[in-house]
Amino acid sequence: MAILNILHFPDSRLRTRAQEVDSVDDQVRTLVADMFQTMYQAPGIGLAATQVNVHRRVVVIDVSEHQDAPQVFINPEILSREGVEETDEGCLSVPGIYERVQRAERIRVRALDLEGNSFELDVDGLLAVCIQHEIDHLDGKLFVDYLSPLKRQRIRKKLEKQRRHGEDPAAGEPSHAERVI
Ligand code: ZN
Repeated sequence: MAILNILHFPDSRLRTRAQEVDSVDDQVRTLVADMFQTMYQAPGIGLAATQVNVHRRVVVIDVSEHQDAPQVFINPEILSREGVEETDEGCLSVPGIYERVQRAERIRVRALDLEGNSFELDVDGLLAVCIQHEIDHLDGKLFVDYLSPLKRQRIRKKLEKQRRHGEDPAAGEPSHAERVI
């Protein structure tokens, strides 16, 4: 397994639309293992392949408290959406920034598992937010796209300044650590 490098906003590679996975083979399973290791180490609760510069439709998620409930979604698709929910979101690709974003409250999702079998799941709460956030990544979209252009510009400047000064932008935000997707 390997820790992969996570791309940060405003890296243009985060805008790439990921390709469908044709067959779930060992290469995909290795990618998934590496993505879990990278996500747990960050730490985060979700990671899309786009964020590690692999442009295939693969998402890993673990919303459990003790990092012991890994879930894999290959070629994920939202079949239906219900309700509206607004929560604070953070993102491993936009470190140290937390903003309120509106999402569907409940969704039905279809995806392939690690054996290539199709499954469907009804989800709500944090997992529903997380899946919607990660599918956005696969489509080249970031949570900051839901904010006003002015706010997005401020975030871009803040991150660029932190990078120039070599600061760790995620430092000093431990209370949000478990919600970074
Ligand atoms: Zn994210």
